[in-house]
Amino acid sequence: MALNPKPSRPHFFSQTPESLAELVKGWGMPAFRAKQIMQWVYEKGIADPALMTNLGPKDRELLAEKMAFVEGATLRHLAATDGTQKLLIDWGLSEDEIAREALLPIAGQPLGDTKNQTETVMIPSESRESGKLRRTACVSSQMGCPVGCKFCASGLSGLDGNLTNGQIVQQIWMLSRLPAVERISNVVFMGMGEPLSNFNNVVNAAKTMMAPWGLGISARKITISTVGMPSPIRKLADMDFPITLAISLHAPNDEIRRKIIPWAEFVTVEQLIEAGAYYFEKTGREVTLEYILLSGVNDLPEHARELAVVARRLRSNINLIRYNEVKGMPFIRPTDEAVLTFQQILTDAGISTHIRASRGRDIAAACGQLRHENAKKSC
Ligand code: SF4
Repeated sequence: MALNPKPSRPHFFSQTPESLAELVKGWGMPAFRAKQIMQWVYEKGIADPALMTNLGPKDRELLAEKMAFVEGATLRHLAATDGTQKLLIDWGLSEDEIAREALLPIAGQPLGDTKNQTETVMIPSESRESGKLRRTACVSSQMGCPVGCKFCASGLSGLDGNLTNGQIVQQIWMLSRLPAVERISNVVFMGMGEPLSNFNNVVNAAKTMMAPWGLGISARKITISTVGMPSPIRKLADMDFPITLAISLHAPNDEIRRKIIPWAEFVTVEQLIEAGAYYFEKTGREVTLEYILLSGVNDLPEHARELAVVARRLRSNINLIRYNEVKGMPFIRPTDEAVLTFQQILTDAGISTHIRASRGRDIAAACGQLRHENAKKSC
């Protein structure tokens, strides 16, 4: 089966109001149909043309024939005890194929071709600032990942393909329709893939997320997280695109970074500081440093002191993430004591530092873990 087969028909979630108006005009419908269709999908959550009752019967039929709405199929939907929900989506199979090939998730059965699969997660939490409930979508930008971080299940088998902008947007739309979700308030590009290596699709998807006609999510509630690609970071800064940038540093120096992130061979911490500083200067938005704590590797007090120097130069805040262990990987989750000591050193150095709560541990919420487990089942 071809990887990420392009739909033969245009995909709804890749459209803007202008491009959709052009399409519907080309199919012989009035241009205002585009607005109606957008309202059905984004405002009412309905993506089945048969249910779009203010379109005439002919237009409904035509639309169903000409346009693909929801692509791919949900292979698994898992809900954790803390409210986190996760979807494993196969972009190569349709719902019909799943039913026909009896690939529904039955214990021990292969679940499609894992190369076509991505994960997307909805994480409920309380806002640190307002105390309000946030529902954050953690979306994937690629199938697999080209970076291959040594601690991450997503990078185990390399890159299998880019997701289109429509497939990225569709993940949020799907999450917003899950039980007890209603509306996604925040988006982080921290799922499978390196977002800046799929630059155009990620930027176009973010535009639809922000658009009033689209998902209507505030730009400052969208975070693009990168392992560190200086040129795309500068390009993003020059676009005057007011989203949050997070750099997944994960190590305070090049020596440790190269041991856990293969791409660190090509990009130094110094280059990332320069690119991050450029982003801050151009956008006025503080850069966040993401730092996954791996016991005995990068979680010692001297690492915290070195990290404080990097953060101070970048004027950035830090998110500490406790590693979620992945079966078959040699890394260990740090103790609570090590994490708190690490945080205290940074706080004492005047760096705003948060420890990210571990969510969904009972549903393999670590990036790429579910797909990885599915791959093992398929062997
Ligand atoms: Fe890719 Fe992120 Fe996993 Fe690294 S941590 S392999 S960049 S998905």
